[in-house]
Amino acid sequence: MQDLKSKVRTIMDFPKPGIQFRDITTLLADPEGLKGTIDALADRYQNTEIDAVAGIEARGFTIGAALAYRLNTGFLMIRKPGKLPGETIGIDYELEYGSDRVEIHVDSVAKNSRILMIDDLLATGGTMEAACRLIEKAGGNVVECAFVIDLPDLGGNQKLSRYPVFSLINFEGE
Ligand code: AMP
Repeated sequence: MQDLKSKVRTIMDFPKPGIQFRDITTLLADPEGLKGTIDALADRYQNTEIDAVAGIEARGFTIGAALAYRLNTGFLMIRKPGKLPGETIGIDYELEYGSDRVEIHVDSVAKNSRILMIDDLLATGGTMEAACRLIEKAGGNVVECAFVIDLPDLGGNQKLSRYPVFSLINFEGE
């Protein structure tokens, strides 16, 4: 995983002063980085019963769709408000400043289906926690929340304490 970690670029003070942005565009642009990331996740889940992979807009789409292809499952899009054309259900959640919302097509989650949740990065966990509640509201069950990167200092694991959590890379104390 050290190889994968070295392909993640850190950009200081983006999108605002004091934030170290962990940029996965460099990991995805690298053929070995992309393959290594998807293969590592596929290895973990290939013997797990999963009905669909759900990715969170937008970076969760890149990883989630490739992983769903490898696992021979469908892929569900969890989107920001107002993007999905069909009938949606949503969950509002609090951010540090203000609030946000995630939505999914109401008919896309089969009753009691087993859903693997994917996003690029776990920070405070607010986005993923809302996405998990959304899947449950739509009738599905969360198998695990998987991330490429965890920033453990921000406490996302505690926020997601109701679910199993997995990440490939972490930037603890950095
Ligand atoms: P959170 O809801 O706090 O866990 O934030 C998760 C989302 O914000 C992820 O989808 C990331 O894409 C993005 N994010 C938060 N902090 C960072 C960071 N330091 N570097 C890159 N992306 C971040």
